[in-house]
Amino acid sequence: MALVSLKEILADAKQRNYAVPMFDVTNVEMMQQVIRTAEELRAPVMFGAIPADIAGANFDYWCDGAFRAALTANVPVCIHLDHAPGLKEIVRCAERGFSGVMIDASTQPFEKNVEITKEVCDLMHRRGISVEAELGHVATGKIGYGGASESGNADSEPIFTDPEEAAKFIELTGADALAVSIGTAHGVYDTAPELQIGRLAEIRKACDVPLVLHGGSGTPDDQVADAVANGICKINIYSELCIAWNTAIRDMLAKQVTMSCWVSKGLYAGMEAMIPVLERKIKLFKAEGKA
Ligand SMILES: [Zn+2]
Repeated sequence: MALVSLKEILADAKQRNYAVPMFDVTNVEMMQQVIRTAEELRAPVMFGAIPADIAGANFDYWCDGAFRAALTANVPVCIHLDHAPGLKEIVRCAERGFSGVMIDASTQPFEKNVEITKEVCDLMHRRGISVEAELGHVATGKIGYGGASESGNADSEPIFTDPEEAAKFIELTGADALAVSIGTAHGVYDTAPELQIGRLAEIRKACDVPLVLHGGSGTPDDQVADAVANGICKINIYSELCIAWNTAIRDMLAKQVTMSCWVSKGLYAGMEAMIPVLERKIKLFKAEGKA
């Protein structure tokens, strides 16, 4: 029984100054490898569900795999809906037992973001589910997931989080965790980002909830370490896992004489390729040995 709420898993991270890694996972092979590595390094960990991965009939298969992995793991696991597009998806996940949800109304003006986020918080808190919200806006880079990955276009400009607004936002909404915009972007960077650590320190001073960094993939290690030292309690990783997974499978298939080779060969190659990414992130976030 290792399923824990977002609030609980992040409270420990905040208290002991590390960041819980959240890996967005698509299939049971990815779930298995995340848990295996987290158990080996004794690290609390989160599964992120990308809305596209749990759409339609995929939902039940995804949930069966994720809950099996979480409930049999011997480290704390939070199952979290990443970037919920609306209330419908949130309720669906809540009813299935997710232990955290993220409502992303960050493209809305402040008042509208407050209104949407508060509605979600009120609804989820009654069910004992914790909520991550976003203030300011983390943009999607040129090769991010979703629409931007295929089109090659950035979806939006970043809006940096204002410390005073952040405090007000938490007070008005009751959100349990806050995703902040301090210079990262979703997807893959053209040039290395420069995080605004000073801004992060101000946000931490102004508001008491655990802070979340999206767009962790490709952010230089020294800046990630700085962010963790200055109050980031959860970091989302997806693009680096995709690159490792996809490259390994492509290279494995390129060596095959025939495409009738077993599908599992590719899946195992993908799983193996995830290991160095998982290990590096868990250690960098100082989550090793915390479970
Ligand atoms: Zn994100």
